[in-house]
Amino acid sequence: MPANLTLDALKAAVASGEIDTVAACLVDMQGRLMGKRFHAQHFLDSAFDETHCCNYLLATDMEMNTVPGYRATSWAAGYGDYVMKPDLATLRRLPWVPGTALVMCDVLDHHTHEPVPHAPRSILKKQVERARAMGFEPMMATELEFFLFEESFSSLFDSGYRQMTAMARHNVDYSIWGTSRDEPIMRDIRCKLWDAGIPIECSKGEADAGQEEVNARYSDAMDTADMHSIIKLGVKQIAQEHGASVTFMAKYDHRRAGSSSHVHQSLWRDGKPAFRDEADAHGMSQVMKHYMAGQLAHAADITYFLAPYVNSYKRFVVGMFAPTKAVWSLDNRTAGFRVCGADTKAVRVECRIGGADLNPYLACAALLAAGLDGIEKEMALEPETTGDIYQAGAVREIPKTLGEAAAALRGSALLRAAFGDEVVEHYAHAAEWEIAEHNRVVTDWERARGFDRA
Ligand code: ADP
Repeated sequence: MPANLTLDALKAAVASGEIDTVAACLVDMQGRLMGKRFHAQHFLDSAFDETHCCNYLLATDMEMNTVPGYRATSWAAGYGDYVMKPDLATLRRLPWVPGTALVMCDVLDHHTHEPVPHAPRSILKKQVERARAMGFEPMMATELEFFLFEESFSSLFDSGYRQMTAMARHNVDYSIWGTSRDEPIMRDIRCKLWDAGIPIECSKGEADAGQEEVNARYSDAMDTADMHSIIKLGVKQIAQEHGASVTFMAKYDHRRAGSSSHVHQSLWRDGKPAFRDEADAHGMSQVMKHYMAGQLAHAADITYFLAPYVNSYKRFVVGMFAPTKAVWSLDNRTAGFRVCGADTKAVRVECRIGGADLNPYLACAALLAAGLDGIEKEMALEPETTGDIYQAGAVREIPKTLGEAAAALRGSALLRAAFGDEVVEHYAHAAEWEIAEHNRVVTDWERARGFDRA
């Protein structure tokens, strides 16, 4: 479903007073929407063409620190400007915010107007163009899980996240009754996202107290990544309207389930699924098998883009529906890569490694880079791993720490070829900074363990 506002429709809505504000947004390294809210008339008069932002937006950490050591920008380089170029095909109403529309922007060099290579939308665009040059259209869906809390964002922040009350008090997986206290918020989320041009399929309770999942219909990879970012914004803003809060952390509490963002993927050719072969035992084409073989071969290289923080790795535990092994299996939720819809035209691969904290543009781009390499090299798909894969012996593991994933990223010939050296070094630096920051900090766990016993 395309975004629901054309420039002409925006002009009419501004003239009638229906819309007075346009949020122009880029996507930062963390997958967040950053930008400016324009008076709608000024957007129509000039900003629809381009606007500007400080180039530190693609060189900060989660806390907006000016991280040293990036080649792309620094204090020494003066933290100059980027061009934000609105992609008018993404213009849409934000029905949960009065009088407001939103548009996604590409990030361009201020002087050359060339795409900034480490901008998440540029990275994904490059891989989509590569797939198209091979004759394929990548179709994807990124499911999103999160936890709902009774307290507001500001009260939890002020209390240091110590008194958190999950909206539901027990596991509400698929429970219609168990999620009924969430429903005023979830109904608003489904309906208002739908009215923003995001075709929500469903929401459902998930496997722990207060956990929910929301699914949008699959679309082309860029549209899916844009929808993912806007869904996160909408879920947060709508929860806030209700005086509640949510988290998309991969693992907000080690005693609770983690939150994932599974990525469903298929390639299409001439409007038809290229993953389908009716003659195959499971209806999987050679193209699909090569694509999956590429993702398995490069699983360690791409893990950083599926699990970008120290916390992300705490999700990979046995018996909680998050995978620990990078192998494939038919409809088996213990595998890193699950084949869904076998023997149907919807046959697809679901990568289950990603957490809800992933950046969807980077995750989809990395998965594509690995899968397309498998197709180009006609990689053979290893045999399916079956049964309880948590207990499978010597099979390919998912990296266990951010350090392991960062080292695999830095050393990845695949990603250097697909994304370019400067992009790999930019994100490897982000990972190493995150580790250094984490190493520096004394955690609650250390204090509780050591304070009177050390
Ligand atoms: P699950 O068993 O994971 O709940 P669903 O049937 O709910 O599976 O589908 C999960 C996601 O997969 C949905 O967002 C759906 O739009 C998406 N999906 C369905 N078909 C395809 C396809 N051919 N390619 C990519 N994604 C798809």
